[in-house]
Amino acid sequence: NGVMAAPRAEVVIDLENLRHNVAHLDALAPTADTMAVVKADGYGHGAVQVARAAVEAGATWLGSCSLAEALALRAAGITVPILAWLDPAGTDYAPGVEQDVDLSASSLAQLEEISAAADKAGRTARVHLKIDTGLSRNGCPATRWSELVERAAKTHNVEVHAIWSHLAVADEIGHRGTDAQAERFDDAYREALAAGLDPRRHIANSAALITRPDLHLDLVRPGIAIYGLNPVPVPADLRPVMTFRSAVALAKRIPAGESVSYGLSWTARTDTNLALVPVGYADGVPRSLSNRMDVWLAGRRRPVVGRVCMDQVVVDCGDDVVVEGDEVVLFGSGALGEPTAREWADTTGTIDYEIVTGMYRPRVTRTYV
Ligand code: PLP
Repeated sequence: NGVMAAPRAEVVIDLENLRHNVAHLDALAPTADTMAVVKADGYGHGAVQVARAAVEAGATWLGSCSLAEALALRAAGITVPILAWLDPAGTDYAPGVEQDVDLSASSLAQLEEISAAADKAGRTARVHLKIDTGLSRNGCPATRWSELVERAAKTHNVEVHAIWSHLAVADEIGHRGTDAQAERFDDAYREALAAGLDPRRHIANSAALITRPDLHLDLVRPGIAIYGLNPVPVPADLRPVMTFRSAVALAKRIPAGESVSYGLSWTARTDTNLALVPVGYADGVPRSLSNRMDVWLAGRRRPVVGRVCMDQVVVDCGDDVVVEGDEVVLFGSGALGEPTAREWADTTGTIDYEIVTGMYRPRVTRTYV
């Protein structure tokens, strides 16, 4: 009757920090517009909430991967321009055209699908033509580019707003791959002009936004940095947005010689106090962190001992007494000394992008502050 159970696993999303990050990044690229990239449910932070906060803080564009993600933002009443860039062949783009979603085209076939959707919707579609400048992923290969820009220029119900590309190694400062991509992008721009287009240009992700002002062009597309995670070893005033926390479910004392969790992989050398925390790999704690992670509990870092299970981990508290209900921070900003998403990523051999994006789980409660 009105009493909410405490969440067993909770990510706390600090929208004040997100707004700070967006405003800071926007100021770092004063001549460019800012697109906040909110794909994959806002990198696991919640696309709609992040989008609203980003727009309040000065972002004038939003970036999503699929058209469905863009339409979900429209359904939530968000009206700023949104670019959607990756859907399979055969997608019906008509709802996107109707809802003023900017669409990316990487091929003639895709341009035709978008044009057909514009016909169906009885409107002009706004497109961004994507050139592959070296990532060899999504984007039109340079060999097909002149054909694409020429066709786009002649397609009556398609307005080419921009040409764009995505960088492969912007997070490695000084890597010549970025310069090679920038040169190919210049070539692509010249071909677009020659075809009679007058497009805007965008290529910068977070890393290029922070380290390559020469690549800011008309629009920058930061993703990870708006969430307060810096992909480059260059200082920037970014504040992590996500904290992952839980609370002690059970405290107990075990005698020396007892072992802990599946596989009995950790054995107490002395009598010790254990805290059971009700989060496990089903909640986003990588099992590969078994015996290799700390949590922040009762004012200090303490080790998780034994294997990470599906639903729980066990923390060794030594002689310190912790009680049921004490807050446990799995990762946070690091400001107090608690582990960070970056630390988890470094230990498990991945990037913090994967850690935070992986927190989008039905069993993990999201709270916005
Ligand atoms: N632009 C595109 C096309 C992307 O796919 C992404 C993310 O992967 C971004 C921009 C943002 O990149 P980052 O999160 O490194 O800033």
